[in-house]
Amino acid sequence: MNAAVTAPTNVALDVHAVREDFPILKREVYGKLLVYLDSAASAQKPRQVIDAESAVYEEEYANVHRGVHHLSQVATDRFEATRTRIQSFLNAPSADNIIFVRGGTEGVNLVAQSWGRAALNAGDEILISTLEHHANIVPWHLLAAEKGLVVKGIPIDDDGQIDMEAFRNLLTDRTKLVAITQMSNALGIITPIEEITRLAHGAGARIMLDGCQAVSHSAVDVQALDCDFYVFSGHKIYGPTGIGALYGKSELLADMPPWQGGGEMIARVSLEGSTFKKPPHRFEAGTPAIAQTIALKAALDYVTDLGLDRIAEHEAMLLNYATERLSALPGITIYGTNPAKASILSFTMADVHPHDIGTIVDREGVAVRVGHHCAQPIMQRYDIAATVRASFALYNTLEEVDALVASLEKVRELFA
Ligand code: PLP
Repeated sequence: MNAAVTAPTNVALDVHAVREDFPILKREVYGKLLVYLDSAASAQKPRQVIDAESAVYEEEYANVHRGVHHLSQVATDRFEATRTRIQSFLNAPSADNIIFVRGGTEGVNLVAQSWGRAALNAGDEILISTLEHHANIVPWHLLAAEKGLVVKGIPIDDDGQIDMEAFRNLLTDRTKLVAITQMSNALGIITPIEEITRLAHGAGARIMLDGCQAVSHSAVDVQALDCDFYVFSGHKIYGPTGIGALYGKSELLADMPPWQGGGEMIARVSLEGSTFKKPPHRFEAGTPAIAQTIALKAALDYVTDLGLDRIAEHEAMLLNYATERLSALPGITIYGTNPAKASILSFTMADVHPHDIGTIVDREGVAVRVGHHCAQPIMQRYDIAATVRASFALYNTLEEVDALVASLEKVRELFA
């Protein structure tokens, strides 16, 4: 360990107590205790979420919204309680602003295929940024090809932050939508969404925020942000897979056409035609992820009870410590050096391929992600093929950062 770097001692979050909530953290990988540094891809689940999901199947499972029988009503109440919980979690004006989706990817696709297809016309411009996950790029490419729209990318500075001057120059009266991430999944950079939203609205454009990464690191208030749409995935905030949410402003949702047809979303169907329910049900065709949705509430309760501020403080401590320790290793280049960042450390190590690094550290029990992180424009920006990404969550410890560093020292010895 670098003698100049000392571990902070007064940690507000009791991480050792928190770890007791996550059964998987007790497992070993290749004979070593798992060090899970891949929460940006998907977070592990606390006992509270696991229990909530299995309780649905053991005690109150039935299809929702369709039954007059008791169990169906219980399941429906519990299911809708998650909608209300997401409303309060995001500070949305009403539960009707919250649409259940499979995750962030489906949320963006819904906005593109419903709002975008109806509201945008040939020649209209959509601004995205170099920091976007493919989930907030490809749906716009698909729509652009169909409707003759123009998708433009806002560049980033060398330190990974959005180039705001370039953004101002790209924003014109042709811009109809700015679709931007609140936090980069590949670099951890937190974008200045307040200013971006203000400027976008000033130019008459709508704004959609991709909160998939940000939502587990800081409190979100969609009304204060004044965003038009906001998406997030449950599995990245310690909840189940297969469930996420799209927030939309009421006046936009009211005019948006359905994007998928089927049961649950209709008011009336005859063989000749259909009419549709009001939002949010208009956008929720078919049987949803019932147990997962119910258990998502447990995840939101969990992070709220721990306190998002304390979680963010804990993760900032881990990130600072990891940044210092990795910076002291020879040959390491860190990408995304702007101070506005959270919880993610993306790096390369001299000439060693990130995939070799990932494989070697895995043998030490350290799970990191290697590759382009579904963010190829970032890799193109830095002219690299891939990075190693260590991402930190509320259950990670300083000792785990030390384990990462020790495993990287092994890599260096092997490639020396
Ligand atoms: N947006 C960001 C910033 C992400 O990090 C991810 C997933 O990594 C997504 C969107 C897509 O989320 P999902 O795969 O849960 O739909």
